[in-house]
Amino acid sequence: MLGLMQDWQLLCHRILDHAATQHGGRQIVSRSVEGPFHTTNYAELRVRALRVAQRLERSGIKLGDRVATLAWNTWRHLEAWYGIMGIGAVYHTVNPRLFPDQIAWIVNHAEDRVMMVDLTFVPILEKLADRLKPIEQYVVLTDAEHMPATTLKNAVPYEEWIAEVDGDFAWKEFDENTAAGMCYTSGTTGHPKGVVYSHRSNVLHSLMAGQPDAMDVGARDVVMPVVPMFHANCWGLALTSPMAGATMAMPGGKLDGASIYEMLDNCRVSFTAAVPTVWLMLLAHLEANNLKLPHLKKVVIGGSACPRAMAQKFQDVYGVEVIHAWGMTEMSPLGTLGSLKPEYAGLKGESRLDVQQKQGHSPFCVEMKITDDAGNPMPWDGKTFGRLKVRGPAVARRYFKDDAEILDAEGFFDTGDVGTIDRYGYLNITDRSKDVIKSGGEWISSIELENLAIGHPKVAEAAVIGVRHPKWDERPLLVIVLKEGQSASKDELLAFFRGKVANWWLPDDVVFVREIPHTATGKILKTVLRDQFKDYAFPTAAA
Ligand code: AMP
Repeated sequence: MLGLMQDWQLLCHRILDHAATQHGGRQIVSRSVEGPFHTTNYAELRVRALRVAQRLERSGIKLGDRVATLAWNTWRHLEAWYGIMGIGAVYHTVNPRLFPDQIAWIVNHAEDRVMMVDLTFVPILEKLADRLKPIEQYVVLTDAEHMPATTLKNAVPYEEWIAEVDGDFAWKEFDENTAAGMCYTSGTTGHPKGVVYSHRSNVLHSLMAGQPDAMDVGARDVVMPVVPMFHANCWGLALTSPMAGATMAMPGGKLDGASIYEMLDNCRVSFTAAVPTVWLMLLAHLEANNLKLPHLKKVVIGGSACPRAMAQKFQDVYGVEVIHAWGMTEMSPLGTLGSLKPEYAGLKGESRLDVQQKQGHSPFCVEMKITDDAGNPMPWDGKTFGRLKVRGPAVARRYFKDDAEILDAEGFFDTGDVGTIDRYGYLNITDRSKDVIKSGGEWISSIELENLAIGHPKVAEAAVIGVRHPKWDERPLLVIVLKEGQSASKDELLAFFRGKVANWWLPDDVVFVREIPHTATGKILKTVLRDQFKDYAFPTAAA
């Protein structure tokens, strides 16, 4: 017997319809790429998204075709996403921080037909254009006045391009499992892999993300997604915010501390989200200028581990609640969020920070397990490490144009992360499975050691890698970038770890470097570091 409810497909453009109907006057304020602030609202944004859809259709873009965007977070990028999805085409966000060769590779792999590009990135594309074979037309996200002279094929300014249609258009109807968006993961080895979101997965992910114990976004919030739309599906915020009817603040291309502060303050932002690097810049700016954050209530920090000192500063100095989150491109991307369940809600001070160092618990729609290398489930005791595996309706089943099976027999996807889960369901990521340090048959968490090192007042950045050791197989090597103008001895740094971790976790040596290599999404590139130190011999190795 089937239920007798309506067949209402979960399509992403319904989110914008809802925002325009119920929250039509709510503003979207952007820092434009041209410079000045720009203000629109959901009702206007929907009208313009419909023009994008109609104009794309006139260009022959149809169901399943990929349309690339190489753009910052602005109202134009947002309406482009909805316009693309509204005809069943697929937004493909290209990360401008990728190496040019990778950009060329993914555009060809995705077979993007149209490229929507911000002024900032026109020069990059001009250099690459003869290798971007499938692109038929470049739409520059600006108006005629700001349109540069360019060699890009059939280049047109976006405003003139959408003005060529009258906007008398209706969204297309199709199955909710139709592809909506694409994002390539910037793997540290091999070619990037294409993750393909569906309308259904995006809508379910947005419902999940908005929940009180997840991001808790509502119509009274002013949401600023600092996380770029080209990174991991914008952590869902391009869909969650309109679904909730929240006001949006879009920071454009300026992500330095002063510019982020200016938007937080001008737009009275109550909720924001980004990687730790962005918040380091903001906190430095606040401190240097003696500023406060009177409007901001909540900040979601993820993408890499949130340093303890950062959580402490946001909460104790600025009165902003920190939600530590973990996720990945393959998960649309949310996996866990660190809101406090009743079991932990009463904690104060250091013990509260201890829990907030964990990456949090999974909302409905994400199931987790940890296993040993053979796939046997490990206990949720907060101590036992295991390979973290996940399943759910917004978790990848397969990569684009790749037949390889990526799920286990129970339908779980191996995240490549290693962690513990405690009895209340809180995940603690201790490592990437390939970065965990295996010393004498035991595992040492490189992330935990890095977090501790970052807490040292002279340390700007830290990485810990396993280096071969004749007796223990691998031992931790601490790689340090000191803050400008600081000097420190190895002993001074190692002393900082004593009493904070088990003695056998203490790094065997410290090396000072000027710079630590990063991936295009800002994560430490441990493959390169490991390669750099592959012949390194510990002073203790003979012992
Ligand atoms: P990406 O797909 O580029 O977003 O990268 C996902 C990976 O980033 C995860 O598999 C983790 O290894 C790492 N990651 C994300 N959030 C966190 C976090 N809060 N703490 C530690 N690692 C994280």
